[in-house]
Amino acid sequence: MKKNELFTSLTDVCIEVYENFELAPHSTFKIGGKASFAAFPRDEKELFALISLAKGNELRYIIVGNASNILFESDGVDAILIFMGKMCEIEVKGEKIRCGSGFSLIALSIAAAKKSLSGLEFAYGIPGTVGGAVYMNAGAYGGEISSVLTESTCLDPETGKIITLSHDEHEFAYRKSVFQKKELIILSSEFKLQKGEKAKIEELMRENMQKRRDKQPLSFPNAGSTFKRPEGYFAGKLIEDAGLKGFCVGGAEVSEKHAGFVINKGGATSHDVLALTRTIKETVFQKFGVMLELEIIYIK
Ligand SMILES: Cc1cc2nc3c(=O)[nH]c(=O)nc-3n(C[C@H](O)[C@H](O)[C@H](O)COP(=O)(O)OP(=O)(O)OC[C@H]3O[C@@H](n4cnc5c(N)ncnc54)[C@H](O)[C@@H]3O)c2cc1C
Repeated sequence: MKKNELFTSLTDVCIEVYENFELAPHSTFKIGGKASFAAFPRDEKELFALISLAKGNELRYIIVGNASNILFESDGVDAILIFMGKMCEIEVKGEKIRCGSGFSLIALSIAAAKKSLSGLEFAYGIPGTVGGAVYMNAGAYGGEISSVLTESTCLDPETGKIITLSHDEHEFAYRKSVFQKKELIILSSEFKLQKGEKAKIEELMRENMQKRRDKQPLSFPNAGSTFKRPEGYFAGKLIEDAGLKGFCVGGAEVSEKHAGFVINKGGATSHDVLALTRTIKETVFQKFGVMLELEIIYIK
């Protein structure tokens, strides 16, 4: 099927879909060329219809949450990007909250606080969706998704079946989950929290947000910590000690405020970011013998 015919089939099934979709405005890095297609399914049926159409037409599909941890290729991405943000229902039952993978993680921590539920204070300030946070096992200030998640339902794109994964089946580790090695799409996740004092929960959330405002370069587009924390070190400290604060390639810069962040100072391309991260890795390795690993995910 030709691309324009494929687009017609996609729109025929009444799914919100766009052709030649500009990616930069949809990523926190504000970097990226055009995707061949972008789609915004509202439920599992639409999601599966999209995947079946993509597979039937040998079109690569890529699942995207809020693109807060993604660097999109500036020359464009030949694929259909499936944004999960519209699958965002939420249900609170006692100390448990279940929500769709497209639900905002920050909104989830606010919803928990409103019900005086403690356990998600760490997540207040982490941009992105619940699905992205589960995929990355996002964490901050001593908390991690793995410490509150009980189970997830997922779509197996091969079989079209919906399966439930227990906590242990997520194989969580530092910024790792089973989804990084098995092709499964997270549909919803359940979290078990604890009754707490609303004022204390909100106070801790405010403190966490203040720490972010004080330390992170939030006034420039970025995709969070550029590198994972190497065991026994802090990536930002190694980069700063290597003298790389403020070092630039094109529009990409090692933040003066926090060396663990590469920021888009204006007009940065994915090529600038990748060249800069290569230099950082080489310099840090030469000076300290530590090999940094990218946390941000490059999609081309
Ligand atoms: C200013 C700033 C601060 C940040 N601070 C933190 C922090 O403190 N701690 C932290 O851990 N991270 C942090 N991050 C990084 C980012 O916010 C997290 O990694 C977040 O969890 C990513 O969620 P997302 O929805 O944006 O996922 P995306 O970036 O869209 O996707 C990330 C990965 O998850 C996959 N994915 C997304 N949704 C699904 C799904 N439903 N099913 C299967 N796979 C899926 C994608 O394919 C991709 O591989 C920060 C980022 C920014 C910009």
